[in-house]
Amino acid sequence: MTASILIVGENYFLAALLDRVGDLADCTIETATSANEAIPLIQAQQPDLLILQASSDSLYLCQQIKEQSRLAWIYCLLLADDAPRLSEAVSQISSQAVECSAEALERGADAYLVMNLSVQHGSLVVAELSARQNRLLQAQVQAGLRVVRNHRELMRANDLLSAIALSDPLTELNNRRALEWELPRQIQNARTRTLPLSLVMLDVDYFKAINDTYGHLVGDRMLKLLSARLRHNLRFYDTPFRYGGEEFVIILSNTDGHEAPIVGQRICRLISEQTFRIDPTLEIHATISAGIASLEAEDDSKGISLLRRADQNLLRAKSEGRNRAISSAPDCSRSLASDSAPSV
Ligand code: GH3
Ligand code: MG
Ligand code: MG
Repeated sequence: MTASILIVGENYFLAALLDRVGDLADCTIETATSANEAIPLIQAQQPDLLILQASSDSLYLCQQIKEQSRLAWIYCLLLADDAPRLSEAVSQISSQAVECSAEALERGADAYLVMNLSVQHGSLVVAELSARQNRLLQAQVQAGLRVVRNHRELMRANDLLSAIALSDPLTELNNRRALEWELPRQIQNARTRTLPLSLVMLDVDYFKAINDTYGHLVGDRMLKLLSARLRHNLRFYDTPFRYGGEEFVIILSNTDGHEAPIVGQRICRLISEQTFRIDPTLEIHATISAGIASLEAEDDSKGISLLRRADQNLLRAKSEGRNRAISSAPDCSRSLASDSAPSV
């Protein structure tokens, strides 16, 4: 993959750096003449590596980048042009340079180099010094790009593992672990923004009979088809989760206690009004029961009491005849159809 480098500094600095690292293989290089010009580029493009001309502005920029977790992985190389001293062929780093280096690293830079950018040609001694410095600069850039490449690979592996950890392999819906992570987040968001929040807990009616009649593989296929139907027919801001076995939870964002029962009933009809085609020779009719609950001020921040209310309403839906959605508000509980066992 092509790496990206952003060089930030005065025009002479940009020219000198392009001269020294411009021909690195597999790199795209952009430039900015000030930290202010660089900020939008960094935000939008997130370059792999920054080469910053050392200054108080670039130190501040470095610090800001490292404070943002979204950007902190960008490799920041600060480069000080030490022309006067090096042109005098002083090869020892001065105590001032040591201090600058320490400060840069303390404030988030990943590396700090001192170079004489003004000499490319001259006496043999100067030319050798320049060649050695160029080699060090290029090695440092390659080392930085290696660190970022490793970081990106780790992040990719991490994303994949998170997706596996949060997804249910049979139905491809988010799993219960994902719900336990997402529900507190949604509750916090609803409370911060004073928005309503509801959830539907649903359970397939007489699912054991499907397993017992047709076998577990048919039961599995049924759960897959039912999940796909849920996923494809929910509003885009409603998120379904497989809670366990043949039980599902749907978080209804920005949905209050009046609207949620309507959604619950719609979901019941979505399942009951069309059979599930298991294979060309087998169609199964199924129904679900649903319990609905809406967030209240006294609910805990993890969603435990909210889930408990939805579960209690689900139990009521079961005991009152199945194939129905029941919510906490008495006038919102409505039945859909009479009890029906699964049929072919
Ligand atoms: P109710 O209407 O009261 O919900 O009755 P039910 O038969 O659906 O409920 P019960 O709890 O008696 O049975 C649920 C069944 O779901 C039992 C369990 O073996 C089955 N089940 C759970 N997970 C899976 C799965 O991943 N695949 C299959 N095929 N069956 C599953
Ligand atoms: Mg069931
Ligand atoms: Mg169940």
